[in-house]
Amino acid sequence: MSWKMTTETEALILSVDAYRENDGLVSALLPDRKIRFLARGIQKNSSKNRMVCQPYSKVSISINERPGKLPMLLYGQVISYAYRIMSDLEMQCVAAGMTECISHMETDPTVYHSLDHMWQAFQKEADNRYGYACLAMAKLLIKNGIAPYTDGCVRCQRTDHLDAFSVREGGFLCQADNRNPVNRRPKADLIKIHSLFHCRGKEEKLLELFHFTLSDWLEWAYWFEYYTQIHLNSVELLKKIQ
Ligand SMILES: [Zn+2]
Repeated sequence: MSWKMTTETEALILSVDAYRENDGLVSALLPDRKIRFLARGIQKNSSKNRMVCQPYSKVSISINERPGKLPMLLYGQVISYAYRIMSDLEMQCVAAGMTECISHMETDPTVYHSLDHMWQAFQKEADNRYGYACLAMAKLLIKNGIAPYTDGCVRCQRTDHLDAFSVREGGFLCQADNRNPVNRRPKADLIKIHSLFHCRGKEEKLLELFHFTLSDWLEWAYWFEYYTQIHLNSVELLKKIQ
């Protein structure tokens, strides 16, 4: 690698913090990784790059990456901006929650594309927008090896007589192994959960077949908190306003 390198890429802007007098530190999700870069002068109204650094924007950017230094934004263009997220407290909390989760975890192109689709669905206030949110969470859990076990009973691996789902146990349980009646779920629920984690390449079909609600997403946010021991501030806020 030469001493300096320019990267041209698409990116999803996750967050921006004020830095020094006029600059910003921007966290962004790229298709293949996360990045934190310096955006000079974006606190000034006259800045051309100001719009490029707004959270919930999908942008195309050019970044200068130098060994041992903060990458720096050269220029960029807004592809789309999901500004409606900011007009609804519920969507805002879920979107902020996904940003929190992603900022702590490993990502890959499936996480990138599902977050992109989720922002678009929120912007359109799509009927099944929380389905897109559940998909984004599912892809993140799969990538980080903390998805639930749904191919059979967690304890005995049998694939029939499944009738429960347990966060603590890590997935499905059969009748014989489920000791807590609270964990029991209708078969349709178990099929929906299994499908959410096994729909690679058929995401659109999943969203046609099943409707997801805010409660579905909250269940996976709770799962995330349980398996990562990371507390999600936006989820706490969401519980208060519900
Ligand atoms: Zn069992």
